[in-house]
Amino acid sequence: MGHKFKHGFKAEAERYAEEFREELGLTPDAPMCPRKLASHLEIPIFGIKDNPVLPAEITRYWANHPKDPFSGLIISDNCYKEIHHNDFHHPRRQNSDLAHELAHIILGHDLNTPIKDNGERAYDRNTEEEAKWLGATLLLPKKATLMMVLNSYNREKIENEFEVSWALYQYRLQVTDTVRAAKNIRKKYAA
Ligand SMILES: [Zn+2]
Repeated sequence: MGHKFKHGFKAEAERYAEEFREELGLTPDAPMCPRKLASHLEIPIFGIKDNPVLPAEITRYWANHPKDPFSGLIISDNCYKEIHHNDFHHPRRQNSDLAHELAHIILGHDLNTPIKDNGERAYDRNTEEEAKWLGATLLLPKKATLMMVLNSYNREKIENEFEVSWALYQYRLQVTDTVRAAKNIRKKYAA
């Protein structure tokens, strides 16, 4: 059973994905780099790999614990916000982590909730589900997945052009019902 979002949330997420692309001069089905979106929104991003502020033993810990769940967090001070994320992760995973953190900021989630031991914020379930949904939508809006299916993109092309994981692509295909939408379009134009 999927999470029950507030009415209109999924359409709102698609609109965000499209509007930000427009602001960045991209077409609605183009790849959008979350780092470019962050810089457009004036949100600095810091990795933990080469971070002079972090003590060396902390960096060493993350370097040696690739399976640790820390992916990213937001530091905020009134309207100033910055993202800290785990850049030991694979670049495609980093993209989805960054899009997730940006989603929290875009949706105006309360950033005053406490940070848990594992570095994640103790958000409620709905807040987390919204960020997960919008983060994935920013990277792969329905218009992009539809374009990929219609043009028979293979895994390599998706991973390289959009810099997203195959798992993320399959998740978006499933939740947006893109395969059926593509079939309907094909039927319409084949006649
Ligand atoms: Zn989150």
